[in-house]
Amino acid sequence: MVFILNPNVPKDKVDQFIAGWEQKGFSAILSVGTEHTAVCLIGNTAEIDMDHVVQTDDIVSYGKRVTEQYKAVNRTVHEDNTVVRAGGVPIGEGFFTVIAGPCSAESAEQVLEIARSVKDSGAKILRGGAFKPRSSPYAFQGRQAEGLEMLRAAKRETGLPIVSEIMNQTQTDLFEDVDIVQIGARNMQNFDLLKAVGALKKPVLLKRGLASTIEEFLMSAEYIAAAGNGQVILCERGIRTFETMTRNTLDLSAVALLKQKTHLPVIADPSHACGIRSLVPPLAKAALAVGADGIMIETHNNPAKALCDGAQSLDLSQFQSLMGDLKKRAVMEGKEI
Ligand code: PEP
Ligand code: MN
Repeated sequence: MVFILNPNVPKDKVDQFIAGWEQKGFSAILSVGTEHTAVCLIGNTAEIDMDHVVQTDDIVSYGKRVTEQYKAVNRTVHEDNTVVRAGGVPIGEGFFTVIAGPCSAESAEQVLEIARSVKDSGAKILRGGAFKPRSSPYAFQGRQAEGLEMLRAAKRETGLPIVSEIMNQTQTDLFEDVDIVQIGARNMQNFDLLKAVGALKKPVLLKRGLASTIEEFLMSAEYIAAAGNGQVILCERGIRTFETMTRNTLDLSAVALLKQKTHLPVIADPSHACGIRSLVPPLAKAALAVGADGIMIETHNNPAKALCDGAQSLDLSQFQSLMGDLKKRAVMEGKEI
């Protein structure tokens, strides 16, 4: 059940309202939007007389029953779109935020060259894997803590906020200066990790699992929100289907459906979705057209020599040309790049 509060209710009244429910054995999740503040109750809400609460509590505007299992991330709880801010860069409503960078941070020079170039082309956030989840234990596993330092150095130099993947909950301290913590597809249902990032005070980029349903994806986002962190960005990165000619299948209908089901920003990762460089630009444009709030694109200064995912990486000039194209299209969508 969710109670939408009247505008401008003082904080102590909201705290009192929440404490009252907690005393009755419910958990309450506070969701503060640009227009509405909502208190979502978890527990046996069937026993609550909703109309009575609305009539008798003067801070409550109206109440709704949320039938879905995901509550805090549910569009019903929060009608306006959530805008997540990472190092001052907005992701959500009115923006098409482009995240670019190498699959993995390989050297300080490589990361810096890519960061400068993608920034000039209009990317707003720098990506780079330091801890790489690889299918083979013999494949390159990333530069680990040194890789994070390469990203931090590029951030100091260019001002671009950075995003990198966390592999387990023992690493949270290492990510202190990382603006967005990424949960990779393979960890989407690592519930201990979801709870751990839920305790952080920074945005989380949650990627959809390779074989996860849209509902499971939303439930994973709910884990993070229920643990206290509502700054979640969902990323559709392709799912496993019967198709073998592409690495995965970019589920564009999931992007459109997620925008209806949740108030959280939704982005797409065409690179991991298709695995083929020449397909990245058309899929990036499709993501914009279908309502995504941004994209994440693997970009490399020398894809042929990349230590990871070179075949799907754009080179710097291909990225620049894609950005030119996207900027024109974003105008038609009423979005700022
Ligand atoms: C990545 O973005 O670096 C990555 C490993 O992606 P995914 O988890 O979607 O496979
Ligand atoms: Mn990759």
